[in-house]
Amino acid sequence: MPRLHDQLAGDAGEVRYSVRGGIDPLDRPHLALEVNGGVKLLCARCAKPLDYALALRTRVLMAQPGAAPQDDEDPESPEWIEAGQELNLQALVEDEILLGLPLSVRHAQGQCSSETQEAFGKKAADSPFARLAALLEPGQTNKR
Ligand SMILES: [Zn+2]
Repeated sequence: MPRLHDQLAGDAGEVRYSVRGGIDPLDRPHLALEVNGGVKLLCARCAKPLDYALALRTRVLMAQPGAAPQDDEDPESPEWIEAGQELNLQALVEDEILLGLPLSVRHAQGQCSSETQEAFGKKAADSPFARLAALLEPGQTNKR
């Protein structure tokens, strides 16, 4: 999956997928895709790799070539592919994974290596939250 590899922080990781064909309640043929696994993405804050868990479930309606409805902007409308006699399943799965990847990811709080650097230059009391906490303090002591 070369296009997916371009988005990743390395080759490590594994993706498992399953594809099931079926007919939806409106009598339309579709593929139900399930993708699970883990890949490495780059943290947007510290630019170091982080583990990202993939868990995608999508359903793609199938249409004859030329018969798929035009793209509309409604994100709720179902996704269509045009399927002829042959379908490149791996490219389809790759497309779905690329669509499912977040635009940017960050390490969880406390796990990002950029946080320790920030903490050095900044005293905890300077943060807006610390000031907010100081403002709230009198109210909290004024309990009935
Ligand atoms: Zn990070």
